[in-house]
Amino acid sequence: MSDLRISAAFDSGNIDVIDASSPDGVHLRIRKDAGDEHLQWFHFQVAGARGRPLTLHIDNAGECSYPKGWEGYRACASVDRRHWRRVPTTYEDGVLTIHHVPEADLCWFAYFAPFSLEQNLDLLASCQASPLASIERLGDTADGRPLDKVVFGEGALQVWVIARQHPGESMASWWMEGFLGRMLDPDDALARVLRDAATFHVVPHMNPDGSFRGHLRCNATGANLNREWHEPTVERSPEVLHVRNAMDDTGVDLCLDVHGDEALPYNFIAGSEAIPGWTQRLARLLDAFKAEYAKATPDFQTTYGYPVAPAGKANMTMCTNQVAQRFDCLAMTLEMPFKDNADLPDPIYGWSPERCGHLGRAVLGPMAAVLSELR
Ligand code: ZN
Repeated sequence: MSDLRISAAFDSGNIDVIDASSPDGVHLRIRKDAGDEHLQWFHFQVAGARGRPLTLHIDNAGECSYPKGWEGYRACASVDRRHWRRVPTTYEDGVLTIHHVPEADLCWFAYFAPFSLEQNLDLLASCQASPLASIERLGDTADGRPLDKVVFGEGALQVWVIARQHPGESMASWWMEGFLGRMLDPDDALARVLRDAATFHVVPHMNPDGSFRGHLRCNATGANLNREWHEPTVERSPEVLHVRNAMDDTGVDLCLDVHGDEALPYNFIAGSEAIPGWTQRLARLLDAFKAEYAKATPDFQTTYGYPVAPAGKANMTMCTNQVAQRFDCLAMTLEMPFKDNADLPDPIYGWSPERCGHLGRAVLGPMAAVLSELR
């Protein structure tokens, strides 16, 4: 039998091959992001694998940014690049081992179902095909890629929704596809109410350079964009600078920043409780939004999440804290799992693109519920 051929030379590919001479003991390593600090995203293709039991070892899994992300984790595999099934995966002594018998010659493996830059362009094109939306160019990324914003709605309130600051968190794009699809549905009554009350500024992809390069957390210059909101610069973090400047122009009444979390097997929201300008009003809005999201879908919950920082000790380099303080508004980080929702596990697909899309569509309810209290 011929040798396996393993490649990551494509959009969002990431793997180095150490030894692929034997299918039952392939050794791989995840590459570091620019900046040499972070690594965890992987995405690669195995050729010549049909019917052969593969044992793929990722030797440096223990050196990744969030080793706890490997506990209870199952890798995603696909032969059609549409359906990403979870496959048996173990984590032991710092090595992640994936077992799978591909049913076709080419099989792709990824940390989570990828969402390519081409898909992001398709998403922008489908938005501008709607008479309800327009696209505005915010500026260029460090690698010279366009950074675009989808604008719709006619209300006085200003709602900002952004995703993919962390490029390895592809679930944020699948969420965005569901959210935008519903918001631009002319027959959806709740979407109409929201578009009448607010103007929406949506940046579906904050970090196209990082995602194309197969990064976990950083852009092309090695900047973690969600640690750049205090003092973004055109050299290091133009993506944040362009978006923050545009926010300064419009003002912000509600901001949602969409992410994925490596370790926690739940959907949850982190607020900005530790900012110096935290108020009872913001606390009420945050509680109401979270409660309504949990009512809207059992895939969202409020029991598990991040610990809240001590009062006044917020990290102001993060989007949610910077925006909440800067605009005295409700600003939140939504986290989805890489693994699964432990409250409603899916043995075949785990947390999946389809479920991200449903969670994106379900956010209209909580948004509508807090609308009248935002100002
Ligand atoms: Zn993130």
